[in-house]
Amino acid sequence: MKRIAAIVPLLAMAVGACSVSPDQEKQMGEQTAHEVAARLPIVDDPYIDSYINELGDTIAGRTSRSDLQWHFYIVNSHQVNAFALPGGYIYVNRGLIESADRADELAGVLGHEIGHVILRHSVKQMQQEQKLGVAATLACTLTNICKSGLGEAAINIGGSAMISRYSRKDELEADSEAVENVLRVNFDPEGIPALFEVLMEQRKTEPTIVDGWFSTHPLEESRIQQARRLIAAKGADNVAGLVQNIPSYAAFRKAVSSLPEPPPPSPDQQGPGQ
Ligand SMILES: [Zn+2]
Repeated sequence: MKRIAAIVPLLAMAVGACSVSPDQEKQMGEQTAHEVAARLPIVDDPYIDSYINELGDTIAGRTSRSDLQWHFYIVNSHQVNAFALPGGYIYVNRGLIESADRADELAGVLGHEIGHVILRHSVKQMQQEQKLGVAATLACTLTNICKSGLGEAAINIGGSAMISRYSRKDELEADSEAVENVLRVNFDPEGIPALFEVLMEQRKTEPTIVDGWFSTHPLEESRIQQARRLIAAKGADNVAGLVQNIPSYAAFRKAVSSLPEPPPPSPDQQGPGQ
């Protein structure tokens, strides 16, 4: 708790400004990333770490923010989720990789989260957190000690996502960014709606695994159709030679699935009645 207490005034200062400068954005991300590393089971496996960073850097390196120092992490949680911090910190839960059959599906998620950073949605999200109280929301999000309804939502997603849900508009913008981001590196953007379909299906069969995704990323049938319209509008549904899978992806996915089971939540991570 001391660490959280120390970080809050700095963050409050950073987000209190009318506009957040690129340096402040990086600082916000870096500070929060330290807290995330202390609180979440980040996978520390050289092969898995280098694979996700190579894939992520390949995509991010061709965007308008190739100047950022991008960092990609796998969180050891079966919950399907991914999230982005300001300044270029992207987290993908192992559960998402376990649900993504093909490399273009994972590339689509990375492209989407990269999009949230580029469009500064993640900065805006933190500013919204401040309206609720940075101290309360950071504690809920990063330490899971919050016992409110919001805290429960955070607990449901394995403590691995910011509490605020992106707006529908932000989600659609990030989807549009994702299509462009993956196309630049020749991945098939069809991976984006394809994974959404997998998640919609999982919602019927394994709702607890995908609850977190649905609580932070609004997703309905119309969003899938919208993603396909975006792909068609860019003519990407007719481009030959786009890559849906790469040979190395199966081995990576196997390595992720073979990770030790996630640590059990500690008693203070339990919500009321759980
Ligand atoms: Zn999103």
